[in-house]
Amino acid sequence: QIKDVIALNTNENPFPLPEEVVITLAERLRGVIADLNRYPDRDATTLRTKLAHYISQSTGVEVTLDNIWAANGSNEILQTLFLACGGADHLALGFSPSYSVHPLIAQITKTPWFAGSRDGDFAIDIPKAKALIREKSPHLVFVTTPNNPSGTSTSISDLKELAEATGSVGGLLVIDEAYAEFSTEPSAVALLADFPHVVVVRTMSKAFAFAGARTGYLVAKPAVVHAALITRLPYHLSTLTQVAAETALEFTPAMQSEIELIIAERDRVGNALTEVGYRAVPSAANFILFSGFKGESAQVWQAFLDRGILIRDIGLRGFLRVTIGAPAENEQFIAALREIAE
Ligand code: PMP
Repeated sequence: QIKDVIALNTNENPFPLPEEVVITLAERLRGVIADLNRYPDRDATTLRTKLAHYISQSTGVEVTLDNIWAANGSNEILQTLFLACGGADHLALGFSPSYSVHPLIAQITKTPWFAGSRDGDFAIDIPKAKALIREKSPHLVFVTTPNNPSGTSTSISDLKELAEATGSVGGLLVIDEAYAEFSTEPSAVALLADFPHVVVVRTMSKAFAFAGARTGYLVAKPAVVHAALITRLPYHLSTLTQVAAETALEFTPAMQSEIELIIAERDRVGNALTEVGYRAVPSAANFILFSGFKGESAQVWQAFLDRGILIRDIGLRGFLRVTIGAPAENEQFIAALREIAE
């Protein structure tokens, strides 16, 4: 967290909330403030109903509140899953490089973690992955799609194969879809009908531009929701968070109105990276992983920072990741890029 820079490092949505949402949100929060002496709805019933409606509408797969669990960001959802289904004798398996918080939460919940690999294009080699799942018999398998940090997607047919393999060893397949709304791939929620051991993890931090409100959720069979109920803390989701997220969901089209612009800007930034001779990994998310620069990642990261632009060195040698910002921010990133690549 560095002040007075263009922050293109944490895959946030760069656009502030629309004014109409700000006004209604302020009114709704005002309406519940006097009641903050009381604990919140500990089952977040209204919020989960609205999330179920959003998922049903956006994926075409009918789900109800019994299929949804909500928490303070999808990181808390991940932790809840690890607490419920992980532990010292419960192996978790992922495909690196991927979201670094998965192995981190494994570590703090004392869950052994096995890092499978991705190929040179950051795709999961499905026959290899299936063989690995059968060999290791993990309790938990993690797939992030679109993947962070690569931005690449795993197709629904590949996910289906991984679901079959994970089911055959009695494990749970956790599909982290934090960036799903930026992708054209169908959601893995479609797999729930045939694969009761699939859990889809979602967030309002990215496409809903609601990172500061901290709302994430999972979509799964009711048995998984019941497991989450065992390990959640009582009253974990504040009344303020619940009301804020419920209101945001009522304004879904307005909250998501910048997705198309972000995708167009992603193409523009991608083209700019290619034009200077760098390699931009094809992204289905709101960020781009790139390589092909001269020097070490840390030096190039510093060169951008020296020009007032904070991007992310994700610890992958020869690569850096840039979040797609608002057009003016991307303009400045591109200007810095051209200088650095000269
Ligand atoms: N999953 C992935 C793949 C992410 O990239 C992120 C955020 N960086 C998260 C989950 C967590 O997001 P949040 O806790 O804000 O919902």
